[in-house]
Amino acid sequence: MTATVLDGKKLAAQLRSQLAEQVAAWSSQHRVVPTLAAVLVGEDPASRVYVGKKQRACRKAGLESRLVELPQHTPQERLLEVIAELNADRAVHGILVQLPLPEHIDTQVVLRHVDPQKDVDGFHPENVGLLVQGTPRFVPCTPAGILRLLHHYKIPTAGRHVVVLGRSQIVGKPLANLLLQRGAGGDATVTVCHSRTPDLARFTRQAEILVAAVGRPGMVGAEMLRPGVVVVDVGINRTEQGLVGDVDFASVKQVASYLTPVPGGVGPLTVAMLLWNTFQAAQLQVEGKITAGPLPGEDAPCPENADSPWAS
Ligand code: NAP
Repeated sequence: MTATVLDGKKLAAQLRSQLAEQVAAWSSQHRVVPTLAAVLVGEDPASRVYVGKKQRACRKAGLESRLVELPQHTPQERLLEVIAELNADRAVHGILVQLPLPEHIDTQVVLRHVDPQKDVDGFHPENVGLLVQGTPRFVPCTPAGILRLLHHYKIPTAGRHVVVLGRSQIVGKPLANLLLQRGAGGDATVTVCHSRTPDLARFTRQAEILVAAVGRPGMVGAEMLRPGVVVVDVGINRTEQGLVGDVDFASVKQVASYLTPVPGGVGPLTVAMLLWNTFQAAQLQVEGKITAGPLPGEDAPCPENADSPWAS
C-alpha cells in the first residue's frame, strides 16, 4: 500500500480564498476590517517566522494585522498592560500571544488576561471550558485544521479508534476533546498517549487514525502501525535535513492509507483556522454573535471515501 498524501497546503489555499470572499462582503457591509494583533516577546527565530506567516496570510485574505514586538526581558506586568490595551482597543478583534514566552513569564497567567471574546487561539479557560462542554466558541487552530483536513478527504472520525500522541494544551488535549464530542468531527473512541505511556507501540498499533503531536523527529515508524491507518503528523522539527515531522514519512507511506506531509500538511491549515477565528471574533464584537455559517461542509456528516480501507 502507498498512502495518499493529504495536501494541507492546497486545502488551506482554498479555504483562505473562500474566507477572503466572505470577509470582503462582511467588511463592506459593516465598514469594519477584522483585525488580528500578534504579540511577540523576544527574538526566537521560529516564532518570528510563524508570526510573519500569519500576518501575510491575514493581509492576503483581507484581514488587518498588527504586530506588537516586545524585548526578551519584558517584565510580565508590562506584557499584561499591553494585553489590557489590546483588549480595550475596539479596532482589534483577535489577539494572539505567540508561544513559547520567555521563561520568566507565566504563560497561563498571560493567556488568562486575553479577553475571551478576542482569544482567537482558544486558550483562555473560558474557551477551553466551552470546548470541553461541547459548545466551542473559538476552536484552537491546529485541532480545527486537523478536523477540516480529515473532513475534506472524506475520512470520518465517527466510530474510529483515534490514538493521539501528545497531551499539550494547544494540540493533544483540545483535539482529543473535539474527537470525543457528539456529531460531526467527533464520535471517535480516543486514546491519548504521552511521555509516561509505556510501550507506545501497543497503543499505536490499535489506531485507525493516528495523530502525532510530540516534537520528536521521525519517532513513529511503520513497525508501530497497522496497515491502512490514517496518519496525521503535527510535528515540526528543525533538523540538519530541514523541517521534519514526528513520523518517518518514507516508511509510513508504505503502510498507511493516508498521510500528511511536513511541511505542507497540518501547518498551513493552522494558519487558515486562525484567520477564520479572527473573522468570527470580529463578528462577535460587531454583531454580538458569530453570524457566518460554518465553513462549507463543516456541519454535514462526513461521507466515507470510497478508496478507504474501511469503505463498505
Ligand atoms: P509539547 O507541548 O512539547 O507537547 C509534547 C507532548 O508529547 C507532551 O504531551 C509529551 O508528554 C509528549 N511526548 C514527548 N515525548 C514523548 C515520547 N517519547 N512518547 C510519547 N509522548 C511524548 O508540544 P506541542 O506544542 O503539542 O507540539 C508538538 C509538536 O507539534 C511540535 O513539534 C510542534 O512544533 C508541533 N506543532 C505543530 C503545529 C502545526 O501547525 N503543524 C502546531 C503546534 C505544534 P508529557 O506531557 O508527558 O511531557
